[in-house]
Amino acid sequence: MAKKKEHWIKRLAIWIGTTIITPVIVSLIVDFFKGIPKLSTIWAILKWCANVVCSFLNLEIKVWWLLVSIILIFIVLYLILRIITAFESEYPNYTEEVFRGLKWTWRWQKNYKNEWMVVGIKPHCPDCNTPMIEINDWGPRFACIRCDFKSGLEQYEDSRNIEFLVYDRADKMEAENKKN
Ligand SMILES: [Zn+2]
Repeated sequence: MAKKKEHWIKRLAIWIGTTIITPVIVSLIVDFFKGIPKLSTIWAILKWCANVVCSFLNLEIKVWWLLVSIILIFIVLYLILRIITAFESEYPNYTEEVFRGLKWTWRWQKNYKNEWMVVGIKPHCPDCNTPMIEINDWGPRFACIRCDFKSGLEQYEDSRNIEFLVYDRADKMEAENKKN
């Protein structure tokens, strides 16, 4: 009887083991292993979302920087143009003109008061373009020491008078520039 009872307990234990415990454990294990892909999928989705958000933010930052850069470039270009325009109106590229049939050239230089001054004003030989010197035979006139050209007496003009005309023309040019 005792042996039979023991046998039944054994059989019951095996039955419980095979019909209840084992499926539960197996299902738990399966669930656990199933859970890993689920978790990894969720993790992957979360990562993907984070990436999308990050890339969107990055894109926004890039767009923002692009806009800022474009605006800055335009501001810089505008300022450069303004400076050039101001420089041009203040300092015309006006460095030569023909007076009394002779070409005169000069440079512009700022003085200690920051004003543009005419410097190195001189007449040029119409034949070889060499700067001419002032001579005085039968009256003042200009002569080329390179090709011996001599200007007519009526072509002579004092360089201070030419300077005066240059300043006058430059003032008129600047006034015209300010109008435009
Ligand atoms: Zn000459």
